[in-house]
Amino acid sequence: MKTIGLLGGMSWESTQEYYRAINVKVKERLGDLHSAKIAMVSVDFDPIERLQHQGDWEGTARILSEAARNIEAAGADFLLICTNTMHKVAPEIQASIHIPLLHIADATAQAVLGKGIKTVGLLGTAFTMELPFYKKRLQEKYKLKVKIPEKSDRHMVHEVIYSELCLGKIDPASRKEYLRVIDDLAAQGAEAVIFGCTEIGLLVKQVDTSIPLLDTVDIHAQEAVEWALNETALPSV
Ligand code: GLU
Repeated sequence: MKTIGLLGGMSWESTQEYYRAINVKVKERLGDLHSAKIAMVSVDFDPIERLQHQGDWEGTARILSEAARNIEAAGADFLLICTNTMHKVAPEIQASIHIPLLHIADATAQAVLGKGIKTVGLLGTAFTMELPFYKKRLQEKYKLKVKIPEKSDRHMVHEVIYSELCLGKIDPASRKEYLRVIDDLAAQGAEAVIFGCTEIGLLVKQVDTSIPLLDTVDIHAQEAVEWALNETALPSV
């Protein structure tokens, strides 16, 4: 079994979901007392969130690249960045290490295509919904049609992530608002909705709607377990 590197803490509310999901999947595959081999560094999110909102992505890249180097030194065979948003600096992080990065948008796009879906809704932080690093990757590399909410709804979705979900606050009123936005995306033609933020699955569950939901924590964790347990060589860096 390969060692999975986790760059977590963004927020820790979702990193614990990664830890759980990966271990549950390894246990399902191997049984007995098996559990995942994990090397994790969990950062302090507060200064990172400040740098994001100041637009200082270089500053975030410096902190996360140092954390990634420490994960590699701790014996990880490959790396997961446990947040969609911070894939904004995935190229800088990858350039600072010698182990491959399992990109969350690649794992997600492959899961979408595997279900025969061509048009998806995308929910996440404003950075993930609006900047090219994520949406463009889905559109250009995987030829997916990506629908995002209108501006005021993007603002609401973003605010709920940072002021509630990353603080562990689950508000039924916010769930109702998210479900309204999910319905709007379906009305725009989305066949499924990507939870392109690792905390959204804490608020909205598949039982809340008939529209198929694709939670990036689950998809990323599943692909990590495939990489860890398969005999095939990892992508070269
Ligand atoms: N965990 C979130 C994501 O998946 C948002 C927090 C962050 O800015 O990293 O995008």
